[in-house]
Amino acid sequence: MCAGMQTASTALMPIPGHIDPVPVPRAGVAREDGRVDLVGLSRDELREALLAAGMEPKQAKLRAKQIWHWIYNRGATDFAAMTDIAKAQHPWLAERFVIGRPEVVEAQVSTDGTRKWLLRGAGGTDGSQDYEMVFIPDADRGTLCVSSQVGCTLNCRFCHTGTMRLVRNLTAQEIVGQVMLARDALGEWPSQPEGRMLTNIVMMGMGEPLYNFDNVRDALKVVMDGDGLALSKRRITLSTSGVVPMMARAGAEIGVNLAVSLHAVTKEIRDEIVPINRKYGIEELLQACADYPGANNARRITFEYVMLKDKNDRDEDARELVRLIRKYRLPAKVNLIPFNPWPGAPYDTSTPERVRRFSEIIFEAGISAPVRTPRGRDIDAACGQLKTAAEKKSRAELDRLAEEKLAALG
Ligand code: SF4
Repeated sequence: MCAGMQTASTALMPIPGHIDPVPVPRAGVAREDGRVDLVGLSRDELREALLAAGMEPKQAKLRAKQIWHWIYNRGATDFAAMTDIAKAQHPWLAERFVIGRPEVVEAQVSTDGTRKWLLRGAGGTDGSQDYEMVFIPDADRGTLCVSSQVGCTLNCRFCHTGTMRLVRNLTAQEIVGQVMLARDALGEWPSQPEGRMLTNIVMMGMGEPLYNFDNVRDALKVVMDGDGLALSKRRITLSTSGVVPMMARAGAEIGVNLAVSLHAVTKEIRDEIVPINRKYGIEELLQACADYPGANNARRITFEYVMLKDKNDRDEDARELVRLIRKYRLPAKVNLIPFNPWPGAPYDTSTPERVRRFSEIIFEAGISAPVRTPRGRDIDAACGQLKTAAEKKSRAELDRLAEEKLAALG
Protein backbone atom coordinates (compact mmCIF):
# COMPACT_ATOMS: atom_id res chain seq x y z
CA MET A 1 0.00 0.00 0.00
CA CYS A 2 1.76 3.10 -1.10
CA ALA A 3 0.76 6.07 0.95
CA GLY A 4 0.74 9.45 -0.66
CA MET A 5 1.08 8.58 -4.29
CA GLN A 6 -0.90 9.77 -7.28
CA THR A 7 -3.31 8.76 -9.94
CA ALA A 8 -4.43 9.96 -13.29
CA SER A 9 -7.65 8.01 -13.05
CA THR A 10 -10.83 10.04 -13.02
CA ALA A 11 -13.48 7.36 -12.70
CA LEU A 12 -14.27 5.26 -9.67
CA MET A 13 -13.38 1.67 -10.36
CA PRO A 14 -15.14 -1.34 -8.89
CA ILE A 15 -13.28 -3.39 -6.31
CA PRO A 16 -12.57 -6.75 -7.87
CA GLY A 17 -13.38 -10.01 -6.14
CA HIS A 18 -16.08 -11.06 -3.71
CA ILE A 19 -13.94 -12.78 -1.14
CA ASP A 20 -10.96 -11.76 0.94
CA PRO A 21 -8.20 -11.66 0.14
CA VAL A 22 -8.84 -10.97 -3.53
CA PRO A 23 -7.49 -14.01 -5.36
CA VAL A 24 -4.70 -13.10 -7.71
CA PRO A 25 -2.30 -15.33 -9.56
CA ARG A 26 0.80 -16.38 -7.71
CA ALA A 27 4.08 -15.96 -9.53
CA GLY A 28 5.58 -19.42 -9.43
CA VAL A 29 7.70 -18.76 -12.50
CA ALA A 30 10.45 -21.38 -12.42
CA ARG A 31 13.98 -20.43 -13.40
CA GLU A 32 14.75 -21.41 -16.95
CA ASP A 33 17.87 -23.29 -15.94
CA GLY A 34 15.90 -25.39 -13.43
CA ARG A 35 17.98 -24.26 -10.47
CA VAL A 36 16.20 -23.28 -7.26
CA ASP A 37 16.71 -19.79 -5.88
CA LEU A 38 17.36 -20.07 -2.16
CA VAL A 39 16.54 -16.45 -1.32
CA GLY A 40 13.24 -16.07 0.49
CA LEU A 41 12.96 -19.67 1.63
CA SER A 42 12.40 -20.26 5.34
CA ARG A 43 15.09 -22.16 7.24
CA ASP A 44 12.99 -25.35 6.99
CA GLU A 45 12.34 -24.83 3.27
CA LEU A 46 16.04 -24.34 2.70
CA ARG A 47 16.82 -27.64 4.43
CA GLU A 48 14.04 -29.36 2.50
CA ALA A 49 15.44 -28.03 -0.77
CA LEU A 50 18.81 -29.58 0.04
CA LEU A 51 17.11 -32.86 1.00
CA ALA A 52 15.07 -32.86 -2.19
CA ALA A 53 18.29 -32.46 -4.16
CA GLY A 54 19.60 -35.64 -2.53
CA MET A 55 21.68 -34.41 0.40
CA GLU A 56 21.89 -36.63 3.50
CA PRO A 57 19.49 -35.43 6.27
CA LYS A 58 22.19 -34.81 8.87
CA GLN A 59 24.34 -32.91 6.44
CA ALA A 60 21.36 -30.99 5.07
CA LYS A 61 20.60 -29.71 8.55
CA LEU A 62 24.13 -28.41 9.04
CA ARG A 63 24.50 -27.05 5.50
CA ALA A 64 21.16 -25.26 5.69
CA LYS A 65 22.36 -23.44 8.80
CA GLN A 66 25.67 -22.52 7.16
CA ILE A 67 24.14 -21.41 3.86
CA TRP A 68 21.52 -19.35 5.67
CA HIS A 69 24.26 -17.52 7.52
CA TRP A 70 26.20 -16.86 4.30
CA ILE A 71 23.17 -15.60 2.44
CA TYR A 72 21.66 -13.33 5.07
CA ASN A 73 24.58 -12.43 7.26
CA ARG A 74 27.40 -12.14 4.76
CA GLY A 75 25.46 -11.33 1.60
CA ALA A 76 27.14 -14.14 -0.37
CA THR A 77 25.77 -14.79 -3.83
CA ASP A 78 28.32 -17.44 -4.73
CA PHE A 79 28.71 -20.83 -3.08
CA ALA A 80 32.46 -20.64 -3.69
CA ALA A 81 32.63 -17.92 -1.01
CA MET A 82 31.30 -20.29 1.65
CA THR A 83 34.60 -21.21 3.27
CA ASP A 84 33.17 -23.49 5.94
CA ILE A 85 31.57 -25.72 3.32
CA ALA A 86 33.91 -28.25 1.69
CA LYS A 87 35.25 -26.93 -1.62
CA ALA A 88 34.30 -30.17 -3.31
CA GLN A 89 30.65 -29.48 -2.54
CA HIS A 90 30.55 -25.98 -4.08
CA PRO A 91 29.96 -27.18 -7.69
CA TRP A 92 27.25 -29.59 -6.50
CA LEU A 93 25.42 -26.69 -4.86
CA ALA A 94 25.97 -24.31 -7.78
CA GLU A 95 24.53 -26.83 -10.24
CA ARG A 96 21.29 -27.08 -8.28
CA PHE A 97 20.84 -23.76 -6.56
CA VAL A 98 21.31 -20.07 -7.01
CA ILE A 99 21.34 -17.11 -4.62
CA GLY A 100 19.60 -14.55 -6.75
CA ARG A 101 18.85 -10.87 -6.81
CA PRO A 102 16.06 -9.03 -8.61
CA GLU A 103 17.06 -7.73 -12.03
CA VAL A 104 17.60 -3.94 -11.99
CA VAL A 105 16.02 -2.15 -14.95
CA GLU A 106 16.82 1.32 -13.76
CA ALA A 107 18.35 2.92 -10.68
CA GLN A 108 18.09 6.60 -9.79
CA VAL A 109 19.61 8.70 -7.03
CA SER A 110 18.01 11.97 -5.98
CA THR A 111 19.93 15.06 -4.93
CA ASP A 112 18.48 14.49 -1.45
CA GLY A 113 19.97 10.99 -1.30
CA THR A 114 16.71 9.14 -2.01
CA ARG A 115 17.36 6.13 -4.23
CA LYS A 116 14.85 4.43 -6.41
CA TRP A 117 15.04 1.18 -8.32
CA LEU A 118 12.85 -0.25 -11.02
CA LEU A 119 13.09 -4.03 -10.76
CA ARG A 120 12.04 -6.69 -13.18
CA GLY A 121 10.12 -9.78 -12.15
CA ALA A 122 10.82 -13.11 -13.78
CA GLY A 123 9.19 -13.75 -17.11
CA GLY A 124 8.55 -10.15 -18.15
CA THR A 125 10.83 -8.59 -20.70
CA ASP A 126 8.28 -5.96 -21.77
CA GLY A 127 8.14 -4.09 -18.48
CA SER A 128 4.78 -5.57 -17.51
CA GLN A 129 6.38 -7.36 -14.55
CA ASP A 130 8.33 -4.38 -13.27
CA TYR A 131 8.03 -3.16 -9.71
CA GLU A 132 9.73 -0.52 -7.63
CA MET A 133 11.58 0.01 -4.39
CA VAL A 134 12.77 3.22 -2.77
CA PHE A 135 15.40 3.92 -0.11
CA ILE A 136 14.95 7.09 1.91
CA PRO A 137 17.89 8.14 4.08
CA ASP A 138 17.28 10.39 7.07
CA ALA A 139 19.56 11.70 9.78
CA ASP A 140 18.66 8.99 12.27
CA ARG A 141 17.43 6.18 10.05
CA GLY A 142 17.28 4.74 6.55
CA THR A 143 13.96 3.42 5.35
CA LEU A 144 13.41 0.98 2.53
CA CYS A 145 9.96 1.15 0.93
CA VAL A 146 9.22 -2.34 -0.36
CA SER A 147 6.62 -3.43 -2.94
CA SER A 148 4.33 -6.42 -2.41
CA GLN A 149 2.59 -6.64 -5.79
CA VAL A 150 3.16 -5.74 -9.42
CA GLY A 151 0.42 -3.15 -9.82
CA CYS A 152 -2.53 -3.13 -7.43
CA THR A 153 -6.14 -4.28 -7.44
CA LEU A 154 -7.25 -1.28 -5.45
CA ASN A 155 -7.84 2.03 -7.12
CA CYS A 156 -7.04 4.69 -4.60
CA ARG A 157 -7.79 7.75 -6.57
CA PHE A 158 -4.73 9.79 -5.62
CA CYS A 159 -2.34 6.92 -6.32
CA HIS A 160 -0.54 6.36 -9.55
CA THR A 161 -0.02 2.66 -8.93
CA GLY A 162 -3.79 2.38 -8.56
CA THR A 163 -4.12 3.20 -12.25
CA MET A 164 -2.10 0.13 -13.21
CA ARG A 165 -3.73 -3.21 -13.50
CA LEU A 166 -2.64 -5.90 -11.06
CA VAL A 167 -0.22 -8.21 -12.79
CA ARG A 168 0.56 -10.51 -9.93
CA ASN A 169 1.67 -10.91 -6.33
CA LEU A 170 5.38 -10.74 -5.68
CA THR A 171 6.85 -13.95 -4.29
CA ALA A 172 8.51 -14.08 -0.88
CA GLN A 173 11.77 -14.37 -2.79
CA GLU A 174 11.10 -11.12 -4.67
CA ILE A 175 10.12 -9.31 -1.48
CA VAL A 176 13.22 -10.47 0.43
CA GLY A 177 15.25 -9.84 -2.75
CA GLN A 178 14.46 -6.13 -2.52
CA VAL A 179 16.05 -5.95 0.93
CA MET A 180 19.07 -7.97 -0.23
CA LEU A 181 19.57 -5.71 -3.22
CA ALA A 182 19.36 -2.58 -1.08
CA ARG A 183 21.97 -4.04 1.30
CA ASP A 184 24.19 -4.76 -1.71
CA ALA A 185 23.79 -1.21 -3.01
CA LEU A 186 24.50 0.31 0.40
CA GLY A 187 27.51 -1.95 0.95
CA GLU A 188 26.04 -3.31 4.18
CA TRP A 189 27.51 -6.78 4.36
CA PRO A 190 28.27 -8.49 6.63
CA SER A 191 25.09 -7.75 8.50
CA GLN A 192 25.75 -5.90 11.73
CA PRO A 193 23.35 -4.61 14.33
CA GLU A 194 24.92 -1.16 14.74
CA GLY A 195 25.72 1.66 12.34
CA ARG A 196 23.87 0.44 9.29
CA MET A 197 22.08 2.72 6.87
CA LEU A 198 19.14 0.46 6.18
CA THR A 199 17.43 0.47 9.57
CA ASN A 200 13.71 0.37 8.77
CA ILE A 201 11.37 -1.25 6.30
CA VAL A 202 7.95 -0.06 5.27
CA MET A 203 5.65 -2.27 3.21
CA MET A 204 4.32 0.77 1.39
CA GLY A 205 5.52 0.24 -2.15
CA MET A 206 3.36 -0.99 -4.98
CA GLY A 207 0.44 -3.15 -3.98
CA GLU A 208 -1.72 -3.95 -0.98
CA PRO A 209 0.37 -6.26 1.25
CA LEU A 210 -2.65 -7.83 2.95
CA TYR A 211 -3.86 -9.08 -0.45
CA ASN A 212 -0.58 -10.99 -0.67
CA PHE A 213 -0.60 -12.07 2.93
CA ASP A 214 1.27 -15.40 2.86
CA ASN A 215 4.18 -14.15 0.79
CA VAL A 216 4.51 -10.94 2.77
CA ARG A 217 4.41 -12.85 6.07
CA ASP A 218 6.96 -15.43 4.91
CA ALA A 219 9.26 -12.75 3.51
CA LEU A 220 9.13 -10.62 6.65
CA LYS A 221 9.91 -13.66 8.80
CA VAL A 222 13.13 -14.10 6.82
CA VAL A 223 13.89 -10.39 7.15
CA MET A 224 13.31 -10.49 10.93
CA ASP A 225 15.42 -13.62 11.57
CA GLY A 226 18.08 -12.78 14.17
CA ASP A 227 20.86 -14.62 12.34
CA GLY A 228 20.68 -12.65 9.14
CA LEU A 229 19.02 -9.45 8.07
CA ALA A 230 17.86 -9.13 11.67
CA LEU A 231 15.49 -6.21 11.35
CA SER A 232 13.31 -6.21 14.43
CA LYS A 233 9.54 -6.12 14.11
CA ARG A 234 9.64 -2.70 15.75
CA ARG A 235 11.49 -1.39 12.72
CA ILE A 236 9.10 -2.80 10.15
CA THR A 237 5.78 -1.21 9.27
CA LEU A 238 3.07 -2.78 7.19
CA SER A 239 0.72 -0.33 5.53
CA THR A 240 -2.77 -1.30 4.53
CA SER A 241 -5.55 0.56 2.81
CA GLY A 242 -7.90 -1.21 5.21
CA VAL A 243 -8.26 -4.91 4.43
CA VAL A 244 -10.08 -5.38 7.71
CA PRO A 245 -10.45 -9.21 7.72
CA MET A 246 -6.69 -9.67 7.42
CA MET A 247 -5.57 -7.16 10.04
CA ALA A 248 -5.84 -9.39 13.10
CA ARG A 249 -3.89 -12.12 11.31
CA ALA A 250 -1.22 -9.64 10.34
CA GLY A 251 -0.85 -8.67 14.00
CA ALA A 252 -0.80 -12.27 15.21
CA GLU A 253 1.34 -13.87 12.51
CA ILE A 254 3.72 -11.04 11.57
CA GLY A 255 3.51 -8.66 14.52
CA VAL A 256 5.06 -5.64 12.85
CA ASN A 257 3.93 -2.02 13.23
CA LEU A 258 0.73 -1.05 11.49
CA ALA A 259 0.07 1.92 9.24
CA VAL A 260 -3.32 2.62 7.74
CA SER A 261 -3.97 4.73 4.67
CA LEU A 262 -6.91 6.61 6.07
CA HIS A 263 -6.89 9.79 3.96
CA ALA A 264 -10.46 10.78 4.85
CA VAL A 265 -12.80 10.77 7.83
CA THR A 266 -16.21 10.70 6.17
CA LYS A 267 -17.76 7.84 4.26
CA GLU A 268 -18.47 10.00 1.25
CA ILE A 269 -14.92 11.22 0.79
CA ARG A 270 -13.17 7.99 1.72
CA ASP A 271 -15.45 6.02 -0.59
CA GLU A 272 -14.16 8.26 -3.34
CA ILE A 273 -10.46 8.37 -2.67
CA VAL A 274 -9.89 4.96 -1.03
CA PRO A 275 -12.63 2.84 -2.64
CA ILE A 276 -12.02 -0.22 -0.44
CA ASN A 277 -13.92 1.90 2.08
CA ARG A 278 -17.09 0.90 0.28
CA LYS A 279 -16.38 -2.62 1.43
CA TYR A 280 -14.86 -2.02 4.87
CA GLY A 281 -16.02 1.28 6.31
CA ILE A 282 -14.15 3.68 8.58
CA GLU A 283 -15.73 2.51 11.84
CA GLU A 284 -15.01 -1.13 11.05
CA LEU A 285 -11.44 -0.22 10.11
CA LEU A 286 -10.84 1.75 13.28
CA GLN A 287 -12.24 -1.07 15.40
CA ALA A 288 -9.75 -3.43 13.71
CA CYS A 289 -7.02 -0.93 14.58
CA ALA A 290 -8.18 -0.86 18.21
CA ASP A 291 -7.99 -4.67 18.23
CA TYR A 292 -4.58 -4.81 16.53
CA PRO A 293 -2.29 -6.88 18.76
CA GLY A 294 0.74 -5.11 20.16
CA ALA A 295 -0.35 -1.54 19.47
CA ASN A 296 0.38 0.69 22.46
CA ASN A 297 1.83 4.11 23.15
CA ALA A 298 5.33 2.86 22.41
CA ARG A 299 4.17 1.25 19.15
CA ARG A 300 1.55 3.56 17.80
CA ILE A 301 -0.55 2.98 14.72
CA THR A 302 0.29 5.43 11.95
CA PHE A 303 -2.57 6.98 10.03
CA GLU A 304 -1.46 8.18 6.62
CA TYR A 305 -3.37 11.21 5.42
CA VAL A 306 -2.68 12.70 2.00
CA MET A 307 -3.65 16.38 1.94
CA LEU A 308 -5.95 17.11 -1.00
CA LYS A 309 -7.07 20.67 -1.60
CA ASP A 310 -10.76 21.28 -0.79
CA LYS A 311 -11.33 17.55 -0.54
CA ASN A 312 -10.23 16.32 2.89
CA ASP A 313 -8.34 19.25 4.39
CA ARG A 314 -10.93 21.30 6.30
CA ASP A 315 -10.65 22.12 10.01
CA GLU A 316 -13.69 19.96 10.64
CA ASP A 317 -11.96 17.01 8.98
CA ALA A 318 -9.05 17.40 11.40
CA ARG A 319 -11.44 17.63 14.34
CA GLU A 320 -13.34 14.57 13.18
CA LEU A 321 -10.06 12.68 12.90
CA VAL A 322 -9.27 13.57 16.51
CA ARG A 323 -12.76 12.51 17.59
CA LEU A 324 -12.45 9.14 15.88
CA ILE A 325 -8.99 8.46 17.31
CA ARG A 326 -10.31 9.26 20.78
CA LYS A 327 -13.50 7.28 20.32
CA TYR A 328 -11.55 4.12 19.55
CA ARG A 329 -8.81 4.97 22.10
CA LEU A 330 -6.17 4.45 19.47
CA PRO A 331 -2.49 4.84 20.25
CA ALA A 332 -2.10 6.88 17.08
CA LYS A 333 0.20 9.08 15.13
CA VAL A 334 -0.98 10.93 12.02
CA ASN A 335 1.34 11.35 9.06
CA LEU A 336 0.29 14.26 6.88
CA ILE A 337 1.44 13.91 3.29
CA PRO A 338 1.30 16.91 0.97
CA PHE A 339 -0.08 15.55 -2.30
CA ASN A 340 2.49 15.54 -5.06
CA PRO A 341 0.37 16.31 -8.12
CA TRP A 342 1.35 15.36 -11.60
CA PRO A 343 -0.26 15.95 -15.00
CA GLY A 344 -3.70 14.41 -15.14
CA ALA A 345 -4.08 13.91 -11.40
CA PRO A 346 -7.64 14.67 -10.31
CA TYR A 347 -6.58 16.57 -7.18
CA ASP A 348 -4.46 19.50 -6.12
CA THR A 349 -2.28 19.69 -3.07
CA SER A 350 -3.47 21.64 -0.04
CA THR A 351 -1.74 24.93 0.61
CA PRO A 352 1.11 24.87 3.14
CA GLU A 353 -0.99 27.06 5.48
CA ARG A 354 -3.85 24.59 5.31
CA VAL A 355 -1.56 21.66 6.02
CA ARG A 356 -0.05 23.55 8.95
CA ARG A 357 -3.46 24.39 10.42
CA PHE A 358 -4.66 20.80 9.98
CA SER A 359 -1.55 19.56 11.74
CA GLU A 360 -2.00 22.07 14.59
CA ILE A 361 -5.56 20.98 15.31
CA ILE A 362 -4.47 17.37 15.68
CA PHE A 363 -1.36 18.30 17.61
CA GLU A 364 -3.34 20.49 20.02
CA ALA A 365 -5.41 17.42 20.84
CA GLY A 366 -2.22 15.70 22.00
CA ILE A 367 -1.73 13.57 18.90
CA SER A 368 1.46 13.73 16.91
CA ALA A 369 0.82 14.93 13.34
CA PRO A 370 4.06 15.61 11.51
CA VAL A 371 4.01 16.77 7.91
CA ARG A 372 6.03 14.48 5.71
CA THR A 373 8.71 16.21 3.69
CA PRO A 374 8.45 15.23 0.04
CA ARG A 375 11.52 13.25 -0.97
CA GLY A 376 13.15 12.50 -4.26
CA ARG A 377 11.06 14.98 -6.24
CA ASP A 378 13.75 15.19 -8.89
CA ILE A 379 13.60 11.44 -9.61
CA ASP A 380 10.12 9.97 -10.19
CA ALA A 381 10.05 8.82 -6.55
CA ALA A 382 6.29 8.65 -6.11
CA CYS A 383 5.06 5.09 -6.25
CA GLY A 384 4.45 3.89 -9.78
CA GLN A 385 5.98 6.88 -11.52
CA LEU A 386 9.27 5.25 -12.37
CA LYS A 387 7.53 2.27 -13.89
CA THR A 388 5.37 4.50 -16.03
CA ALA A 389 8.28 6.71 -17.00
CA ALA A 390 10.29 3.64 -18.00
CA GLU A 391 7.45 2.28 -20.08
CA LYS A 392 7.38 5.53 -21.99
CA LYS A 393 11.07 5.38 -22.74
CA SER A 394 12.07 3.60 -25.87
CA ARG A 395 13.96 0.37 -25.65
CA ALA A 396 16.95 2.05 -27.27
CA GLU A 397 16.97 4.75 -24.65
CA LEU A 398 16.95 2.18 -21.86
CA ASP A 399 19.83 0.34 -23.50
CA ARG A 400 21.78 3.56 -23.78
CA LEU A 401 21.15 4.36 -20.10
CA ALA A 402 22.25 0.86 -19.12
CA GLU A 403 25.44 1.28 -21.10
CA GLU A 404 26.12 4.65 -19.49
CA LYS A 405 25.60 3.14 -16.07
CA LEU A 406 27.99 0.32 -16.79
CA ALA A 407 30.58 2.79 -18.09
CA ALA A 408 30.18 4.90 -14.96
CA LEU A 409 30.83 1.82 -12.83
CA GLY A 410 34.10 1.46 -14.67
S1 SF4 B 1 -4.05 1.88 -5.24
FE1 SF4 B 1 -2.91 0.20 -4.29
S2 SF4 B 1 -0.75 0.87 -4.27
FE2 SF4 B 1 -2.05 2.71 -4.55
S3 SF4 B 1 -2.45 3.56 -2.49
FE3 SF4 B 1 -4.18 2.19 -3.01
S4 SF4 B 1 -3.56 0.17 -2.15
FE4 SF4 B 1 -1.65 1.43 -2.29
